Amino acid sequence: MVEETENKNIIINGESIAPGEQKLVFLNIARLPTGTLIDIPVHVFNGKKPGPTVLIQAGLHGDEINGVETLRRLLQDDFFLIRKGAVIVVPILNIFGFIHFSRDVPDGKDVNRSFPGTKSGSLASRIAHTYTEQILPQVQFGIDLHTGGGQRHNHPQVRYSTNDLKSMELAQIFGAPFYFSSRMITGSFRKAMFKMGVPTIVYEAGESMRFDENAISSATKGIQNVLVHLGMLPKNLGSTSDPSVHLEQTRWTRAPRAGMFIPQVYNGQWVEKGQVLGLVADTYAKKNKKVKAAFDGFVICINHQAVVNQGDALFHLGR
Ligand SMILES: [Zn+2]
Repeated sequence: MVEETENKNIIINGESIAPGEQKLVFLNIARLPTGTLIDIPVHVFNGKKPGPTVLIQAGLHGDEINGVETLRRLLQDDFFLIRKGAVIVVPILNIFGFIHFSRDVPDGKDVNRSFPGTKSGSLASRIAHTYTEQILPQVQFGIDLHTGGGQRHNHPQVRYSTNDLKSMELAQIFGAPFYFSSRMITGSFRKAMFKMGVPTIVYEAGESMRFDENAISSATKGIQNVLVHLGMLPKNLGSTSDPSVHLEQTRWTRAPRAGMFIPQVYNGQWVEKGQVLGLVADTYAKKNKKVKAAFDGFVICINHQAVVNQGDALFHLGR
C-alpha cells in the first residue's frame, strides 16, 4: 500500500482541491453536433489527513447503469465524507453512451478498449486520453463498476488482474459473493491502470439497462469495505457479510442449437456436473435440447436473452 506522508491537492482540469475540501469538477471532453458541451462530472473528496487516493467510477459502458445508480445513492447519502486520503468519484464516464442507452460512443467504439487513448484519435480514444492524463496519475487504487454486457446478468463478482497480488487483495476485501482473476484486455481501463502500477478491480453485477437491488447493495458494501480497510472510513462500518468465494476456474456453457432459451437455475446457485441448467427448444415444439453443467460449481452469470443462436454464451460457471 502506498503510504502518503503529506497532504496533497488533487488537480483536475486546472482546478485544485485542497485537503479538507470537496468539489464537483467538470472534465471537458467534446461537444454534441448541436454545440452542447459534453463534460464528465467528477466529484472529488479530499480528506484532511494524508492517505491514498481511490478512484471509483461507473458508466464506462454507458448502458451499465447499476454502478451509476450505486454512486448516485452514495453521493446523495454523503457517504464519501472520508477522514483521510481522497476519493475521486465518477458516476458516468461514458456520457455519450449513457444518453444513447449504449455501451459505446456514437461511432460504435468502446471506451474500455481505447485506453490510454490519444489526443487526435477517435472520440472513444480522446475520452480515454483526457481521463488518463487528468485523473489516473493521481490515483493509488481503482474500482470500476460494470454490469453484464447485452442481456447477460452477472451475479455480483469482482475480477482482479492475474500477477497483481494487490488487486487480488482488494478484490477479496471488497467482499462480493465471488472473486476471480481475469485476463486483461488490450485497451481496457484495468490494463492501463495495471501498466501504471495502480491496483484496480472490476466489479460486475446485474444486467445492462436494468436496476438490480442486489447488485447495487453488494457494490455499496464492497466500496465501504475497501474504504474501511484503507482507514478512510471508521472501522465500525466494516462488513459483516459472508467472505467472498474465490473461483479458480470459470467457463461459459454455450447454446448447443438455436431456439428459445429457458434457464432452469438461479444465479449464484451451486450446481453439480451433468445437472440440467436450462433448455433450448425450437419454436415449433418439436425438439428440446438440455444444457448441462460441465463441472460442479456456481452459476455466476445467466444470459436473459430469450431467443438464442448456436454458440451463444448461456451460463457462466465458476469453481
Ligand atoms: Zn462493462
